[in-house]
Amino acid sequence: MAKILVTGGAGYIGSHTRYFLEQRGHSVMVVDNLSRGHRELVPDKILHVLDLHDKQRLAALLKQERIEAVIHFAAYIAVGESTQHPEMYFANNVGGSVSLFEAMIEAGVDKLVFSSTAAAYGTPKKVPITEDQDIAPINPYGESKVMVETILDWLDRYRQFRSISLRYFNACGAEPAAGLGELHDPETHLIPLILRAVQTGKPVTIFGDDYPTPDGTCIRDYIHVSDLSEAHINAVEHLLNGGASDIFNVGTGIGHTVKQVVDAVEKVTGKKVPSTIGPRREGDPPSLVADSRKLQTTLGWRPTRADMEVIVRDAWHFAEAHVLKQK
Ligand code: UDP
Repeated sequence: MAKILVTGGAGYIGSHTRYFLEQRGHSVMVVDNLSRGHRELVPDKILHVLDLHDKQRLAALLKQERIEAVIHFAAYIAVGESTQHPEMYFANNVGGSVSLFEAMIEAGVDKLVFSSTAAAYGTPKKVPITEDQDIAPINPYGESKVMVETILDWLDRYRQFRSISLRYFNACGAEPAAGLGELHDPETHLIPLILRAVQTGKPVTIFGDDYPTPDGTCIRDYIHVSDLSEAHINAVEHLLNGGASDIFNVGTGIGHTVKQVVDAVEKVTGKKVPSTIGPRREGDPPSLVADSRKLQTTLGWRPTRADMEVIVRDAWHFAEAHVLKQK
């Protein structure tokens, strides 16, 4: 069992991955500056409140804890915000990553799993998307992740630094048994917004119903956060066993339209979703679905929670528990 550092472990995917790493018997430390993360999603004794730009403290922590590998989530993730403040995204997502890599090199840690994104493909020419499709991000968020992938490629060549970049499709769902779920502020993601509409009675806006899809709404590949977390564990164990650097898509290979997600929410909650149709959101491609066969064949990963009703059920449990906690 290994000693693993999770950056951004107080965030949505980071907190789930921390939980599953511990379940698998690994020893985990979390670094988070809590600028967007939530303290309550991390056990106090493993949390180090630290910014990635603080290279010296990071290197000291890596050495002191004898960390063997890092799973790196800490980043800004809001596409819209990235178009308003691109410099902030490059400083945090690229600058923070470079500082982390310098600290790792100083501490002699040379294995990293990187949280990348399907936004690397921009508007893809072909769906399902394979890893060899053109890299053509259409927003600074996607570009910031591509830049880090590129840096990792050079570090592999000249620093024997081994990394796996995981390009996620739409992370969703929750692990309510662990008290974990999605808590973004502001929330921009579809499933929590639909659940909030059910809870508050205020309608969710469906961004466009004139896309070239069966019901006119966008198609996305929704991947349960627990399945996604398990992909990180397979990836880090692969590196710890001497595996080579690589890049993988993480999705289910199944597309759901926005309206199909709304239908699943109505079925699971037994309540009508108040919704209105609005204009298209800028930069939304009609369809994004992963071809994840490479991940399945290389790392033996399988999504086991791909059913939309399972995803919604878990997200709903967390949303209901969270509302109760806030009352
Ligand atoms: N979406 C929507 N209304 C919302 C939020 C999202 O119709 O309030 C749609 C969005 O256009 C996209 C899908 O839901 O087709 C997923 O969007 P989300 O922001 O959750 O993830 P993204 O695909 O941008 O990573």
